[in-house]
Amino acid sequence: MLEPLPGNRVYRALMDQRCIVLACNPRVIPGVAHGIFRAAKELDAPLIMELARTECNQHVGYTGLTPAEFSRRLNEVNEEVGHNVWVLHADHIGVKTGTRDDIADVKEMIGHQIAAGYTSFAIDASHLFDFDGGTVAEELAPNIKATIEIAGFIRMRMSGREFGLECEVGEIGRTGDEGMVLTTPEEATTFIGALGEAGVHPQLLAIANGSTHGNVYDAEGNPIAQVTIDIERTKAVARALREAGHDVRIAQHGITGTPLDLIRERFPRGDILKGNVATLYQNIVLDAIKEHHNDLWWDMRNWTIAEKPIAGKRPEEVFGKNVKFALKEFFDEIYAMGEACEARVERECHRATMDHILAFGSAGKAAVVRERLDG
Ligand SMILES: [Zn+2]
Repeated sequence: MLEPLPGNRVYRALMDQRCIVLACNPRVIPGVAHGIFRAAKELDAPLIMELARTECNQHVGYTGLTPAEFSRRLNEVNEEVGHNVWVLHADHIGVKTGTRDDIADVKEMIGHQIAAGYTSFAIDASHLFDFDGGTVAEELAPNIKATIEIAGFIRMRMSGREFGLECEVGEIGRTGDEGMVLTTPEEATTFIGALGEAGVHPQLLAIANGSTHGNVYDAEGNPIAQVTIDIERTKAVARALREAGHDVRIAQHGITGTPLDLIRERFPRGDILKGNVATLYQNIVLDAIKEHHNDLWWDMRNWTIAEKPIAGKRPEEVFGKNVKFALKEFFDEIYAMGEACEARVERECHRATMDHILAFGSAGKAAVVRERLDG
């Protein structure tokens, strides 16, 4: 049995295990997926494979993959590797406007994801925030309403099959006048409480706690390490949820760039249950392409600077943040990478995955999942 497991079963099995499950976004499959699956199998670690709506949808996201194609390619790689504790997750099902068209398109995508065998879903309606709301509940009302509607749709379309559910309160990476806007414990408990009253019980909650998606740069455009995740706030939110009687843990987004020793020593395992790593894998692919297919790398770089500029930013930073949009444009060339390039990608993805699983404390935890699934 190598198919992905229902997310809820995996998350529930690990809630008291003081570990963080690695969730990877392989925006490019060759070499990457193989390296990730192999590391997870060797360390016997539970694994989540995911792509967001922007990366992968029924119209083809910026990775050039549809849900069907993503699922097919992952399952094909895992046929070879043979890892049996993994989840196929829909990362950031982003509801941007909440209009009927937006919701209809989201539902259509979910239909495709379910047909492709997805076993877990992250609804992200955090952009729907009522800035004029007088109370926390009023501010969160549009997010709560959209989340309940989408969750109900998923349940209906899964027709009795179990699945994992992640929801999101607080837009990740949003900044206000005083810097990063962080989710408060009250927002988290209000949000989860309102969902619970409507019969929606996510196992995971993504919060805004100081991380940013993608590579991180200083004001001058130099790449820097990310040390902005607010550990104390994260613990406070998790504690408030526990005290309110909710069985939900934190999903940490945007880990790329966070030093491994900070993750190992300071990330609150048991409070954070899922850790998302995306851009790191893309960086590995690009470095390998630069060495093995230098012309292609320059084509991708020039395309990114010309087609996806960012006002006032140096080319280095524009490339680091927006080269993801070149993945679809150069899909055929990337997927035709040579053997040496693919071998390097696989080796480095394998190493990065090992490092993160060890820092997350989730080595050996696949056995716990198997035990509890059987029991
Ligand atoms: Zn994210």
